[in-house]
Amino acid sequence: MALLLLISALVMMTSGCATNPVTGETQLSLIGEGEEHQMGQENYRPTIQTQGGRFYLDPELTTYVQNVGNKLAEVSDRPDLPYEFAVLNSSVPNAWALPGGKIAINRGLLVKLEDEAQLASVLGHEIVHAAARHSVQRMQQGMLLSAGMAGIGLALGDNEWGGLIMGGAAVGSQLALSQYSQSHELEADRYGIEYMVDAGYDPQAAVELQEIFLELSEGQQSSFIDGLFATHPPSQARVEANRRLARKYDSGGYRGREEYQSRIAEAKRLQPAYELHDEALKLASEEELESALAKVNEAIEMAPREAAFFATRARIQEALEHPEKAQEDYDRAVELYPEMFSYRLYRGLSELDRGNLDKAQADLEASAQVVPTSIAYLRLGDIAARKGDRNKAAAYYNEVAKAGGEIGEEARRKLSNLQ
Ligand SMILES: [Zn+2]
Repeated sequence: MALLLLISALVMMTSGCATNPVTGETQLSLIGEGEEHQMGQENYRPTIQTQGGRFYLDPELTTYVQNVGNKLAEVSDRPDLPYEFAVLNSSVPNAWALPGGKIAINRGLLVKLEDEAQLASVLGHEIVHAAARHSVQRMQQGMLLSAGMAGIGLALGDNEWGGLIMGGAAVGSQLALSQYSQSHELEADRYGIEYMVDAGYDPQAAVELQEIFLELSEGQQSSFIDGLFATHPPSQARVEANRRLARKYDSGGYRGREEYQSRIAEAKRLQPAYELHDEALKLASEEELESALAKVNEAIEMAPREAAFFATRARIQEALEHPEKAQEDYDRAVELYPEMFSYRLYRGLSELDRGNLDKAQADLEASAQVVPTSIAYLRLGDIAARKGDRNKAAAYYNEVAKAGGEIGEEARRKLSNLQ
């Protein structure tokens, strides 16, 4: 519904035809460049956070990815877009682009690549999606509302924030996580390879990567199925098209295997800690709390500055009814990564359980400022009600009453009790 309103508002603001900056084709252009930039700008941070947050343990890796990305952006058809490149703290092998050149690649994909040319091929592909306005075209065609909705359900299936994110932040994750059409994929491959060649990379790397992806997707066993393949489906047609295209260029060009391997070494060294953490999450979901605690303790020993591990241990401690230990771990998580909305949200909910209204309010407000969620608004409404501010409580409940599920229902019930 929010997306529908957004689209109709955008349609009213601008309309007409324009030349696609990448393909040169004339296309319907309902969403102007200003709106395009704004969409990317506003949704980048919330989308980064709902997809795992920044991989801040290795800032040099981010700088490296930014350098490779900027090299490709400079030779693209829209070098003036406000490009940004982020490395996300997620084990899911994935990469995405928001309108306006806001691009992200997950730690889980980076550790699976072999050299800089393969990285260039992933980033070049995402740059085309942004430069050729593929998301904007999908919005105009209403594709995000039907096929896209199904896509996001799938992609967010394992994501606990799936049904809770509200407003623009939800639009952002939808733009990042819904599937591209085959024609957009072919276009992104084709121009991505051109950008690689212009930036001095060996285009053969793109073909190899596509072949590996196709093999993995046929096996149906790979973690890529829920990540990169859900949004960028590989196919024999893509491999063939890329092979034909790569033949047009001289072989050779930069591969950068040694450089890449040295840059990715720290992320690979930390990989076992993230695997332990993933196991801890799984055990916790199966109520095997003591085993989960042991696993996450091991992970923390290996990476004592990873906020996500402390946030997970805090939740396990809470489930084990060790509130003081939980509080210590929540504090540590927030201290290590203060901007991350989910750590503030967990800590706020936990403070509320213990009756610390002011602390809970501060955390829940901070979390909702970055990523508005129905659960944060609902509890902020409760806090306002307990503090005797009926108007403020009603305003929060009103927001949440629009949401579905149990949370929406609770808000509607509390709203009618207020009146
Ligand atoms: Zn794609």
